This record gives sequence, structure tokens and C-alpha cells, in this order.
Amino acid sequence: MKVTDHFKNANGKTLFTFEILPPLKGENMKTLFNHIDPLMEFKPPFIDVTYHREEYVYKQRENGLLEKRTTRKRPGTVGICAAIQNHYRVDTVPHLICGGFNKEETENALIDLHFLGIDNVLALRGDCVKSEQRFVPEPGGHNYATELIEQVANMNNGVYLDDEQAYHNGTDFCIGVAGYPEKHFEAPNMKSDLRWLKKKIELGADYIVTQMFFDNQKYFDFVNRCREEGITVPIIPGLKPMTTKTQLTLLPSLFHIEIPCALAEAIEDCPDNKAAAQVGVEWAIQQSKELMEFGVPCLHYYSMGKSDSVRKVAEALF
Ligand SMILES: Cc1cc2nc3c(=O)[nH]c(=O)nc-3n(C[C@H](O)[C@H](O)[C@H](O)COP(=O)(O)OP(=O)(O)OC[C@H]3O[C@@H](n4cnc5c(N)ncnc54)[C@H](O)[C@@H]3O)c2cc1C
Repeated sequence: MKVTDHFKNANGKTLFTFEILPPLKGENMKTLFNHIDPLMEFKPPFIDVTYHREEYVYKQRENGLLEKRTTRKRPGTVGICAAIQNHYRVDTVPHLICGGFNKEETENALIDLHFLGIDNVLALRGDCVKSEQRFVPEPGGHNYATELIEQVANMNNGVYLDDEQAYHNGTDFCIGVAGYPEKHFEAPNMKSDLRWLKKKIELGADYIVTQMFFDNQKYFDFVNRCREEGITVPIIPGLKPMTTKTQLTLLPSLFHIEIPCALAEAIEDCPDNKAAAQVGVEWAIQQSKELMEFGVPCLHYYSMGKSDSVRKVAEALF
């Protein structure tokens, strides 16, 4: 079922959903199920599964020269989505990125998802490869999420890459996209970022999921500005309970977000990570309560491979 249909069926009740990462190469589905099991009692209607592109590693050869190799540490997004749907009978939202894919590979991935009964995709550009300074598209691939959305929307209309004519059967994906309450770090300003966000909706996206934020005012302002720009689709807040002291500096550098002073000081004063996680959970609960009162259709939690804190937040709310 489509994410947007889940929202309609909820009749104004706020839903609980979360995002997981594929396990590291060499792990199996049991690792993943152990992570998901504790969260299932809160009845998520869908689970997001991230996509991780390749990384470059350098190995020293016997002759001393460095050999560049490509490795993918967390493969398996498509298979994991199908396994979760079969095992738990919940919908999944695979993340699909532009990076590392040409258009044919994207089309094939979407056809696989369609055959597997997966009705949703989160269409993203993806970040640059870790060792590169800026995003470089695959030859014959997409530069921006806008182009990926166009391809998915075309397939929904029965237009595939090899034919100008509509095929008899199209796909029927519900398309989600990313939004940034604190602006995407490459965008010259918020207005420009919102212009492209609006374009993503005009091209066929059905809903927005936000980057994590720790100050609800940033989300409220973002929603207001989106509405002023004529963006009317649901805007799902993405939340992350902070779990370690290191995340205080790690999260801003990875995700280009700010941590409010009160939270930063409370975490800095914690003697250890156990105490920091308690502060993180309490903060996320308060954020979630206020967002529920605001009437958000869904609270979407970034588990980043750990379910403990998300479970504690869910226990207090759902
Ligand atoms: C909810 C969520 C989930 C995510 N999941 C993943 C994941 O699973 N895997 C992963 O690798 N990354 C993931 N990311 C990170 C994301 O890939 C990065 O933030 C990436 O840098 C931008 O992706 P995007 O889809 O927002 O890009 P875009 O929408 O393409 O935007 C990128 C930048 O270009 C600008 N822009 C957009 N369209 C155009 C255009 N047509 N012409 C010119 N400029 C344009 C925008 O303003 C922005 O500054 C996720 C992010 C979020 C918020």
C-alpha cells in the first residue's frame, strides 16, 4: 500500500515509522530482524530502508603502488525490502539514489521493486562518494533527484527508456522526497532550495520526509515556507534520539544541522553515553509530543542501526 494511503487511512492519528540501514556485508537477515522486532509492537505501517553507494578504498600492491578498489559495505536494499514485507507484512520504502546508477540500472531496479510488490520509493540524489568533494553522476545517470523523479513518474505512466510510446502497463509507485528544514548544505539559500523542492513535487513526488532536526521551530518555519510556496503535500518530520556524546559534533558535521544550546549543554554535562542517551530520549519525546499536537501525519525516526532509544521514545508515545 502507498505511504499516502496509510496517511489517509489513519484519519488524523499520528503514525509511527522508522528508517533502518542494511546490515554490513557478511551479516544476515537475523541481525536486521533482531533490530526491527522490538519496534514492531508500535505498528509501523511502513519501514524505510536506506541505500548506500559504493566507496573507494586503496590497497597497497607488492610493488608499492596503490590500487583503487570499489566496495559497497551495505548492499541489499531491494532484497531487504522484500524480506521485511514478507516477514512482517508491512510496507517498505526503499531509498533509491542517483549516484552510482545509470538510467537503465535505475529502470531495472524499479522493475524489480514493482515485481516484488513494493509500492513506494524515496527518490534521492545521494551524497558524493566519501573521497570526492562534490557529487558526480554516473555516466548516463541522473544529476539531481528531480531527474530521478521524472523517470519514476514516466514509468508510472507506462513510459520506459526504450520506447517513446506508452507500454500497456506502467508501475504505480508513491514517490517520497527529501526536504531540509535547515537548508540543503549545497543550496545557496533557502529560497533556492524550496524552489527545487517544489519542482520535485510538480514532477510527481507525493510527500516529503525531512532531514533530522532538534529544534521543532525549524520544522514549523519550514512547513510554513513550503505552504507559502504552494507545496501542499504531507511533510513528515524526521527525528533522531541522540545516543552518544560524540553525536554532538558528528551529527552537525554529517547532516549540516544545528543542535540547540539547551540540548548541547545537557549532553556535554553527561558523565557517559548512558546518561547522554537518556537525555537524547527525553528530548526526542518532548519534540515528538509537540509535533503530535501540531498534527503531523507521522513521526519518522532515524534508528541508524540501533533500536533501543527509538523504542524508549515509542513506548512513551504510541
Ligand atoms: C529523509 C532522507 C533520507 C535519505 N536517505 C539517504 C539514503 O538512503 N542514501 C543516501 O546516499 N543518502 C540519503 N540521504 C541524503 C541525501 O542523499 C543527501 O542529502 C543529498 O546530498 C541530497 O539528496 P536530495 O535528494 O535532497 O538531492 P536534490 O533534491 O537533488 O538536491 C540536491 C541539491 O541540489 C539542488 N537542486 C535540486 N534539484 C536541482 C536541479 N534540478 N537543478 C539544480 N539544483 C537542484 C537542491 O537545492 C540541493 O541543494 C537522505 C536524506 C534525507 C533527508
